[in-house]
Amino acid sequence: MQRTTAAPAQAPRPPEAGGAVVRHGRGGMRQDGSMPDSATARAHDVVLRHIEDSLRSGALKLGDRLPGERALAEQFGISRASVRDAIRALEVMGVVRAATGSGPNSGTIVVSDPSAALGVALRMHVASHHLPVKDVVEARIMMETWSLEHAATAAWTPEQLDDARRLLTAMDDDALPSQIFTLLDAQFHVALSALAGNIVVSTMMESMREAIRGYIDDAVARRGGWDKAVSVLRGHHHGIFDAVEARDGELAARLVREHIEWFYAQSL
Ligand SMILES: [Zn+2]
Repeated sequence: MQRTTAAPAQAPRPPEAGGAVVRHGRGGMRQDGSMPDSATARAHDVVLRHIEDSLRSGALKLGDRLPGERALAEQFGISRASVRDAIRALEVMGVVRAATGSGPNSGTIVVSDPSAALGVALRMHVASHHLPVKDVVEARIMMETWSLEHAATAAWTPEQLDDARRLLTAMDDDALPSQIFTLLDAQFHVALSALAGNIVVSTMMESMREAIRGYIDDAVARRGGWDKAVSVLRGHHHGIFDAVEARDGELAARLVREHIEWFYAQSL
């Protein structure tokens, strides 16, 4: 944490500043080998930039797993500690989430869209942890039913729908830890709501994402029964997605309302 605050220059550039996609080749960092005092900071920065650029260019997408710590360290010719620092910074910003354990389901998963205004979003995420759940649920229902109704006639592209589809597919993984599922779940709702094309509603949904994930995680920890709940949630998500894809706004809005209300009723 102190690392990111101590070195503001390492923060990713804002999306508006983007343009050319920087690609770092295998071992392609600093050919002259002249590492100044801030060598560690620069090593951290090069990974951060590379991952951010990959996200922006679409080489890495929501629900994807990052290469392992060792692979990234080898790719950039830097220490694993520097890779860890970069990943920790991305975690703090809510861009990735580390999944513990080993095997094909371990590793770091991309859980957020870097095009969000990260500074503002982060403050709102923190603040939103203390919002009353009932109010978050009511606001969700209001925004999501409106969004899915309007998505039926909005001019979204197949690629935009694919963002939601990728999350839907990622959530079908039986081995997904509940905390990763809930992150992808909240992002799935943000992605679907964005199809309505209202930037203000999208931004409000984005800012509520952590609050949504928070109350779901709390309910899972308090009530248990995750295995049963997750299969119901998956069924709901597929139904909602199919209705949106078929541009049936009325059905999509009804299903998303039932989905949100169902989980809230379980959590009481
Ligand atoms: Zn959901």
